[in-house]
Amino acid sequence: MEILSKLAEFFYPTRCLVCKQAGAVVHSGCRTALPYIEEPFCHTCAMPLKDRHCQGSLCRLPGRARALDGVRSVFWHTGAGREAVLRLKYRGVYTLRTWSGQEAAEAFARFGLSNNFDLLMPVPLHPLREHKRGYNQAAIVAEPFAALSNLTYRTGWLRRERYTPSQLQVGGGNRSQNVRNAFSWQGPEISNMKILLFDDVCTSGSTLNECARVLKAKGAAEVWGFTLTREV
Ligand SMILES: [Zn+2]
Ligand SMILES: [Zn+2]
Repeated sequence: MEILSKLAEFFYPTRCLVCKQAGAVVHSGCRTALPYIEEPFCHTCAMPLKDRHCQGSLCRLPGRARALDGVRSVFWHTGAGREAVLRLKYRGVYTLRTWSGQEAAEAFARFGLSNNFDLLMPVPLHPLREHKRGYNQAAIVAEPFAALSNLTYRTGWLRRERYTPSQLQVGGGNRSQNVRNAFSWQGPEISNMKILLFDDVCTSGSTLNECARVLKAKGAAEVWGFTLTREV
């Protein structure tokens, strides 16, 4: 991984996510242009909150259908936030994964999420897709994020059994159908645990909710989602 990262850095030098000039993932002067998520946003699904009643697709789900207790995301899925997700998907360079992990850890603290989570797990990719890409873009960010936030990181317990199209390519109404029964649990006992799921982007929340459904069925007490970006 290290050698590959250095090679990638040589052929594709780090360019700022904001101004696209070489030299840093984000220049210190460009940081203010990052699309950080700030209040007011819905404390359940992280969508921008225009009035008291959230219209986000997760919040509109009937009580029993929503397994996810809450979502927090670092950036809106726009501008430099979207650029970070795209670059992580197509070349998960070392500098970018470290930077993303740090941004996630800082946001985790800023949102006041305490570290009483028992586990942090990345949303898994189907093994075929992971093999094609060479890595899981959620996992390569979740790992440094977990280390910086003192969270116990585990991968491989939650599995994606079904090869599904990317949620970004599926129309809004079909997203929950697209991931229905896509995941299975292959890990140890998780009764009463509080679990944090990490993904690169939250679109409708269906993927995180479906993972949460599997974990709750195994007895997890609380399941939260944390993503680098949130699509509006
Ligand atoms: Zn810049
Ligand atoms: Zn909401």
